[in-house]
This record gives sequence, C-alpha cells and structure tokens, in this order.
Amino acid sequence: MRYIVCIKQVPDTTDVRINPETNTLVREGVESVVNPFDMYAVELALSLRDKFGGEVISISMGPPQAEEALRETISVGVDRAYLITDKSFAGADTLATSRTLVAAIRYIGGADVIFVGKQATDGDTAQVGPGIAESMNIGQVTFVRDVMEIRDGNLLALRMTDKGRIEIEARLPVLLSVTKLDREPRLPSLRGKLRAKKEKIEHLDAKSLSLPEETVGLAGSPTQVIKIFTPQRHTQGEIQRGKPEELGDWLAGKLRNIL
Ligand SMILES: Cc1cc2nc3c(=O)[nH]c(=O)nc-3n(C[C@H](O)[C@H](O)[C@H](O)COP(=O)(O)OP(=O)(O)OC[C@H]3O[C@@H](n4cnc5c(N)ncnc54)[C@H](O)[C@@H]3O)c2cc1C
Repeated sequence: MRYIVCIKQVPDTTDVRINPETNTLVREGVESVVNPFDMYAVELALSLRDKFGGEVISISMGPPQAEEALRETISVGVDRAYLITDKSFAGADTLATSRTLVAAIRYIGGADVIFVGKQATDGDTAQVGPGIAESMNIGQVTFVRDVMEIRDGNLLALRMTDKGRIEIEARLPVLLSVTKLDREPRLPSLRGKLRAKKEKIEHLDAKSLSLPEETVGLAGSPTQVIKIFTPQRHTQGEIQRGKPEELGDWLAGKLRNIL
C-alpha cells in the first residue's frame, strides 16, 4: 500500500492579512506551520500504515522553506518526502495547484490512498483535494474522521457531516479529505527528529514533472482575484428592556420586518 499525503505550509495565525495592491497573502514576519488538518491526515495515514503495512510519503508544493513542513512530517514517522518547487509555480490558483500535485503523484508512481486536509487555514477554499481526485478520475470521500478497514481493494471510511456520521465504502485508489480526528496527531520521537534533520528530500520542478510553464503558477491559473477584503464588523446593537411578553412582541416584530 502506498499512501501520499499532501501538505501545505500556512501562516501560524488565524489573522491572515492580504496585500491590498497585489491581492496575495502577506507572509513576511509570520511564522509558518503545517496546515493543522494536514497533520491529522498524516496521523491517519501513519495509523493505516501501522495496521495494514506500506509506506507513507508526504508532498508539498511551495517555496524552498516548505521543506521544513515536510521535515516535520518525517519527524512523526513519514517514510519519505518530496518538495515540489519552481519559480514558475508561484501564484497558482487551486486548479494549477491540483494539476501540479497530480503530476508529482504520477511521478512518484501513484498511490492507493491520497490524503489532503479538509481545507487550508489560509486559502480556505477546500478545492485542491476535489481538484486532484477529478483530474485523476478517482473517487473521493470528504470530511473523513477515520478509516475502519482496507480489504479486497476497498476502503471503509467514517465521514462526518452536520447531520451525523456516515460510513462510506470506496474503491481504491481513492482521495480522502481529512477533518479533525477523535485523537490528536502523534508527537515526534527523538529518533524521528534526528532522522528528519538528515533525510534527503527530493525536489521536483516543472521540468522534472514535464509540466509546460503555461500550465502552472499564475500563467496556468484561470482564477482572477479582483478584490479581497474583510467584511466590516457591525458592532452596534440594540438593548431593549421590559417585561418578557413585551420583549417577545418587540422581537417578533423585528423578525417579521427582516423576513
Ligand atoms: C490568482 C491567485 C494567486 C494566488 N497567489 C498565491 C501566492 O502567490 N501565494 C500563495 O501562497 N497562494 C496564492 N494563492 C492561493 C493559492 O492558490 C491557494 O493557496 C492554493 O491553490 C491552495 O488553495 P487553498 O489554500 O484554498 O487550499 P485548500 O483547497 O483549502 O486545501 C485543501 C488541502 O489541499 C492540500 N493542499 C493545498 N495546497 C497545497 C500545496 N500547495 N501543496 C500540497 N498540498 C496542498 C492540503 O492537504 C490542504 O489541506 C493564489 C490564488 C489565486 C487565485
């Protein structure tokens, strides 16, 4: 079994700032971490390897410093990692990102299960996973919280939705987008930390993936970001005092006006 986990390095903050002139994320002066949902995906992949055998590979498309994120996954037990990096990959939208990740997955020789996080905490679109599955023409299960069984080329996953828990059987190869698990990701061991420092991480560029430059990065991105802004907060409210039945009538009147 081969498990490939897609990892994104994101700013270590929920206060994501946008450069109003370029409409891109401000990364200067902000610490980076592995996208938290991706660490849950790593945890799930490692637990499946422990149970059913095989290897876990992590991949990330990003600038050279994204290698740190991959080393973090090695420190908790990932077998090997690939950094997909090239100046021409900069400014990729979700389509170009999915396309580039698919090329890397094929370069590595494919996978039985591809993992992504539910969503990245910066871009937040949750489109990259579905983009990979669609482009590879394989099935996908979203909001996965656990995998109970892998047998006879099928996988049984537990999916969380607003309405409850759903068990889904899917044919391999399959893509899983992983939500928060009911356990926390494992911590690195001392041996893992030492291995993470020494492990060679292969770099893949547009040439090694045979990707024409017009299909990657900004050039290969049909999305045009016209404006990004934070909606204004409305802090003003109304405080009404009175008897409960009067307040009930007042509130009902307000709601009727809204509807
Ligand atoms: C025109 C345009 C320009 C942009 N320019 C930039 C830019 O200059 N710099 C920048 O950082 N972003 C840029 N972005 C945002 C970038 O496109 C998205 O961050 C990226 O495509 C991933 O989308 P997302 O963050 O919404 O991920 P989601 O779809 O929410 O991510 C879901 C999961 O997919 C996987 N995943 C996502 N991205 C990667 C990755 N890179 N490598 C491995 N796995 C991944 C992870 O498992 C993640 O949990 C730009 C977007 C547009 C539209």
